[in-house]
Amino acid sequence: MSRVINFSSGPATLPESVLLQAAKDMLDWRGSGMSVMEMSHRGPEFMDILAQTQALLRELLGVPDNYTVLFLQGGAIAENAILPMNLIGRTGQADYVVNGVWSQKSMREAGKYGQVNLAASSEDSGFLAMPPKDQWRLSPQAAYVHYCSNETIGGVECHWIPSTGNVPLVADMSSNILSAPLDVSKFGVIYAGAQKNMGPSGVTVVIVRHDLLGHALPITPSAFNYQIQAEQDSMYNTPPTYAIYIMGLVLQHVKAQGGLPAMLEHNQRKAELLYDFIDHSRMFSNRVARQDRSRMNVTFFLRDEGLNAAFLEGAKAQGMVQLRGHRSAGGMRASIYNAMPLASVQTLVNYMHQFEKTHT
Ligand SMILES: *Cc1c(COP(=O)(O)O)cnc(C)c1O
Repeated sequence: MSRVINFSSGPATLPESVLLQAAKDMLDWRGSGMSVMEMSHRGPEFMDILAQTQALLRELLGVPDNYTVLFLQGGAIAENAILPMNLIGRTGQADYVVNGVWSQKSMREAGKYGQVNLAASSEDSGFLAMPPKDQWRLSPQAAYVHYCSNETIGGVECHWIPSTGNVPLVADMSSNILSAPLDVSKFGVIYAGAQKNMGPSGVTVVIVRHDLLGHALPITPSAFNYQIQAEQDSMYNTPPTYAIYIMGLVLQHVKAQGGLPAMLEHNQRKAELLYDFIDHSRMFSNRVARQDRSRMNVTFFLRDEGLNAAFLEGAKAQGMVQLRGHRSAGGMRASIYNAMPLASVQTLVNYMHQFEKTHT
């Protein structure tokens, strides 16, 4: 068996130990005689998995007691609608900061449920930076302020937490949650699909401050009503049981590695290695403002784009896949989430170095 080095932006590579554990548990989870896939979500075995996974996520992120952690279905794109359905009714309007393709999508979707104000945007400069905080035009009437903490496609990450006064801050953290320590108390709501940095697709984590529950628009589907799901511990409908179980294994792995401080150090080293090589290269370049570069998704371009196909082909021959940039961005992208080993990033850098030498 040979595994590739998988730079996919998501679903993305998982820790090998997690996959091996899942394989071991496949037919018989801890003597239950069942696969986790076959368990009743209300049986004692799965209830135990759910409780442990929730507790571990709370522990790793230091989630304060006045927040509920929900495990929902639908992914971050569904959350683009579910979030305003639950929150915008408080005042009828919300502020959106647009720092890339994902937050732009979020804003458009929210417009179906209330008035959306564009508080700041970096679209004019091609989404290559975070709009600076002093340029945000926030409205006191907003029910919340939404931004994306890591724009997966552009490779733009917000390395600071915006202060929004009394207006709750909401973040789509799909592609950088668990990559570094986080002060959850600064947020009203955090949401994230699992398949970038936490597990497989199918489960969406929503962390909601208690005072924001109970404001859903009447049209909100019950399965997506935060208050109903909070009251029923994410069990109003059948939760994505197997995805939750794998996420639990990933969280155990993160904890064993030293938790979020260790993840930050690990991710910093990988990102520095790659950006440093790119910055000193004559063939490759990164266009994102230095202070806003993502530690998770490193985008880069070949100066001669005519060599793109050769670059991807050569990478594949060395077992490296999914380096092509998103179709809307072009160029290349290496997604290097928590589960990507430093040695694999070194392998990529070695290959880029060799490619540069043979093509100039
Ligand atoms: C991947 C991603 C999404 C979309 O997630 P889906 O699971 O396809 O709904 C949204 N926002 C960000 C930041 C992402 O990285």
